[in-house]
Amino acid sequence: MTFFEQATWDGRTYLSGWRPTGATATVVSPSTGEPLAEYAVTTPEQVDLAVTEAVVAQRAWAARPATERAAVLRRAAQLIDGQAGVLAGWLQTEAGSAAGKAAFEAGLVSAEFWAAADTAMMPNGQLLRTGRPRLSFSRRLPVGVIGVISPFNFPAILSARSIAPALALGNAVLHKPDPRTTVTGGLFFAAVLEEAGLPAGLFNLVPGGADVGAALVEHPRVPVISFTGSTAAGRAIGKRAGELLKRAHLELGGNNVLLVLPDADVAAASSAGAWGSFLHQGQICMTTGRHLVHTDLYDEYVAQLTRRAAALHAGDPADGAPLGPLIDATQLSKVDAIVQESVRQGARIETGGTFEGLFYAPTVLSAVTPDQPAFTDEIFGPVAPVTRYDTVDEAIELINSSEYGLSVGVLSGDAYKAFELADRISTGILHINDQTVDDEAQAPFGGVGLSGTGARFGGHEANIEAFTETQWVTVQGEIATYPF
Ligand code: NAD
Repeated sequence: MTFFEQATWDGRTYLSGWRPTGATATVVSPSTGEPLAEYAVTTPEQVDLAVTEAVVAQRAWAARPATERAAVLRRAAQLIDGQAGVLAGWLQTEAGSAAGKAAFEAGLVSAEFWAAADTAMMPNGQLLRTGRPRLSFSRRLPVGVIGVISPFNFPAILSARSIAPALALGNAVLHKPDPRTTVTGGLFFAAVLEEAGLPAGLFNLVPGGADVGAALVEHPRVPVISFTGSTAAGRAIGKRAGELLKRAHLELGGNNVLLVLPDADVAAASSAGAWGSFLHQGQICMTTGRHLVHTDLYDEYVAQLTRRAAALHAGDPADGAPLGPLIDATQLSKVDAIVQESVRQGARIETGGTFEGLFYAPTVLSAVTPDQPAFTDEIFGPVAPVTRYDTVDEAIELINSSEYGLSVGVLSGDAYKAFELADRISTGILHINDQTVDDEAQAPFGGVGLSGTGARFGGHEANIEAFTETQWVTVQGEIATYPF
């Protein structure tokens, strides 16, 4: 018997212990349509109660030695390592992840917890120079209760990267996962943290839809929201957070470019391009959504990318398929509408463009021009739109014309020449000689423009920025004297 037993959490959620809430919802497998688990849905009133408990628990947690917080995070990381196979299995069935993506995600979740344990022990301020005989320093204090809201596509990582550092730095967390991935995005973490010995009240899971997320944003005792999801929802949250004068870290959509320079090796470039566009069926914020290819290489690149796409297929990850299903029918019709409209406007389907159930065939679109939706919109499906350019200046202009700015890859036979372009590209993440999808627990992750605003995720500096407040402190031995 492991700690992550369905019998413990079926029909319940974790609110200072496993409880029913009076209403339940079901997660279903996007591959088979079968129900996988029931979870308890929270109401905005229950969110309020959980915040009240979290406020009390957080004060005690922040007063504990950092070594104690680090120890809980380390125990959690060990438990995740021990359950990596179980988590990966759930990611396959619940999120439609192929085996490789599921294993990568489980590994990165563990890395987030190990890194957070280190964060708990890092220096916590600066000794300042002062013109007066006193001690002057700045220090970082926990903000209190953090509201975390996460999406369906990498449900475990995109929850872990906020939950773990927020707790390590002395905060309490109220977490709302996506309703379609409540097991891997939420229940798993409640089970891990309970087993790791996290005191009650510090991690509360509030499953539900946008209304529950909105209740977190509205709550006066939740001063920081850490949100990952669509630009539309992020905009609504940012607007409301602005009105309430609370901080919102918003990690949003992307429309990422793979720029293939004229001296790139086409075989290697098309392999990188296929990975960037098709990994997890293109449902990644960093997915390569636009391939900009120099005219000299264009035909050969399209041919090789098409050959690679045609060799893939989408199917049930449990049967070993390299690509899984899209998460639901709404997402699938959005993807197909973008493909069909782009074709109507002159794009050509080289392979794919068809679907069966939620399985969308890996698709290559050629003759994509900057005015077509396949170029301008985030597709979030297994579609590789390829656009021709003549000069590097024109390509840079095309990259920067997007309102998004998350990740860009530049492929070239000359890495230094490619790097010279870096200063001219507006993006939060830039990879020279790699595709656009990558993440490491210790690297600052985030975008500019419509891709996000707020602190970065990953690394001590970013975590401190995101999940603490600064306090300036001076200390002197005697009460200061004044002329009146
Ligand atoms: P979504 O915005 O619809 O949902 C994300 C989460 O927000 C869910 O938990 C949802 O219930 C909640 N939510 C939705 N509306 C809300 C509101 N008004 N108030 C509070 N909570 C609300 O996202 P999606 O479309 O399901 O996810 C895919 C999107 O997420 C893509 O655009 C993708 O690029 C983006 N994403 C970004 C990153 C990143 O780090 N930049 C990572 C992964 C996904």
